[in-house]
Order: sequence, then C-alpha cells, then structure tokens
Amino acid sequence: MPISRRSIEPGHAAFETRALTKTYGEGEAAVHALRGVDLTIPAGEFVVLLGPSGSGKSTLLNIIGGLDRGTEGQAFFGEAELSAMSDRQLTQYRRDHVGFVFQFYNLMPSLTAAENVELVTEIARDPMEPAEALSLVGLKERLHHFPAQLSGGEQQRVAIARAVAKRPTVLLCDEPTGALDSTTGREVLRVLADVNEQMGTTVLIVTHAAATGAMADRVIHFSDGAIREVVVNTTKTPPEEIDW
Ligand code: ADP
Ligand code: MG
Repeated sequence: MPISRRSIEPGHAAFETRALTKTYGEGEAAVHALRGVDLTIPAGEFVVLLGPSGSGKSTLLNIIGGLDRGTEGQAFFGEAELSAMSDRQLTQYRRDHVGFVFQFYNLMPSLTAAENVELVTEIARDPMEPAEALSLVGLKERLHHFPAQLSGGEQQRVAIARAVAKRPTVLLCDEPTGALDSTTGREVLRVLADVNEQMGTTVLIVTHAAATGAMADRVIHFSDGAIREVVVNTTKTPPEEIDW
C-alpha cells in the first residue's frame, strides 16, 4: 500500500521515533549506537542533526531512511510505521519518498551529469527532466560533462539533482559537505536550502560541522546515541554567511 502524502502535511511530523535503539553485535562486544531516541522532525523544516563522529548519526539517518532497521523501539514516516514494514515496503518507501545525499557523491564515472540523474528518474513515478533538476542546482551548463570534468562541489550538486529529481518528500543528507572546502560547502548548503524553500521538501542534514546549525530551523544536538538538546532557531543565517 503506497504511503499517502496527506499524512505529512506541514505542521505534522515527517519523522518520529520512539525509544529507538540500535545495537550492533552482542554481549561484551555490543556497540550501542542508539540508546533510546525520541525524535520529531516536523514536515517542511530544514533540520540539522549535530554530533561528534561515532555518536550514531548515520545509524539514525539510515533507519529513518529505510536503509536499516532499529533493534528496539519505533520509527514513523508520517503515520506509516517504518519499524513494522516488510523489506519490500521499505524499498518502496525509499523509492517513492526519500532522496539521499552522501559525503561521497557515488556518481557513475562513465555517465554524464544528465545521464547520472536520468538513471534514477527512469524508475520514479513523477520525475523531473534531468535538465530541470540540474538547472535547479545551478548546473544547466554542465549537462553533458562527465564527473571527472566537474569540481567536487559540482559533483555533489549533481548528486543533489539526482536525489531531488524524483521529487522526494524528504531529503536525507549524511555529511554532504564533508569532502568539500568551505566555499564549495556553502554553495552546496545553499542548494539544499533552495530545495527546502522552493519545493517544500523536508531536509535533514547530519553533520559534525557545528556551524551548519545556524542555517537550520531546528538543531538537534546528539551525542553517544541520544538526543541531548533541541534548539529551534528564531532566525536562520544564510549559508553564505556561515562562519566555518
Ligand atoms: P556517526 O555517523 O555519528 O559517526 P555511526 O552511526 O556511523 O556514527 O556509528 C555509531 C556507532 O556504531 C559507532 O561506534 C560505530 O563504530 C558503530 N557502528 C556503525 N555501523 C556499524 C556496523 N555495521 N557494525 C558495527 N558497529 C557499527
Ligand atoms: Mg556518519
């Protein structure tokens, strides 16, 4: 059963987790990556989840993105319970609703920018044209370039175009600026802010770069597998003014 978009209108939660845990391994070797996470991410917001390396950020992102499962507790996308879905339902959820952006762009080196985007739009229900998606990220002059002919920041923008071309409900970004210098990183953050503002896509960035929090609606401080503090920003700093 496809998940309806109606259950996640603005003002409602895009994501919620309840007492979510994730333990890798068993006994003395067990690693408690998540220790009972109660998370709420309102639909339409730009959210930054901040925490040191090894604190469980990627684990949490992967579970709400349907790439992995928690050990105990629940995870919801709107009113749909991810933790109760079959593998097939999770695959369909990812395909229909989730765009992923990772630190390393994972572009196919033998395909042009447009072809890399097209690879994903071929299996989407109501995709944008690759040219439209690339134009949204400021790359309409680079459609026929191969990844090797693009800078790191441009490659990441192709990866963002690929993620947004299927018009996902949520965009989940794991250290999206982790491999970029500060100027290029700001450009990538600008593109993510534009996607949030222009398409209404809920955006979650997980990062250890604390300065990124200034551009968010909501900053979730995370450490040792748990939420420590949630700060709702009354004003947002444009990415161009973020001090790295
Ligand atoms: P972060 O993204 O904040 O750096 P992670 O979610 O990647 O943190 O990792 C949280 C903890 O879980 C770390 O101690 C890490 O070593 C451990 N971990 C992550 N993935 C696995 C795995 N597949 N198997 C075992 N331990 C893992
Ligand atoms: Mg990580």
